Amino acid sequence: MTAARQASDALTRRLIDLARQGIRPRCGDYETSHYWTSEHEAERKQAAQWCTGCPMFLPCGQAAEANQERWGVWGGRDRTVRPGKAAAAVWLYLLLASSAGVQLVWMIPLAHRPAC
Ligand code: SF4
Repeated sequence: MTAARQASDALTRRLIDLARQGIRPRCGDYETSHYWTSEHEAERKQAAQWCTGCPMFLPCGQAAEANQERWGVWGGRDRTVRPGKAAAAVWLYLLLASSAGVQLVWMIPLAHRPAC
């Protein structure tokens, strides 16, 4: 079993334990759950603040890290990668690699990777 799978399973088990106790994390609140995956950065920032004190904070963040989540708020952190940032990172990599003498033909698939 991969580390990512283990972290996801640990998160799921913890969520089930909480549900048995009648506890739901703030991101499960019907009124505000959309903040965690909002397209608006200010709303995701608010969601990250609402994560404070959540009993799921640690396993939630660990699962996100292990799975390299790139969208939404997990464990108090907005993990959303804006396409512009990803594209900039690719171009910076290409620039540095080409200046280091690496053949560009090996990097073409990297440049065509999806941004999210
Ligand atoms: S720490 Fe995770 S489970 Fe808790 S409110 Fe934040 S996103 Fe939801």
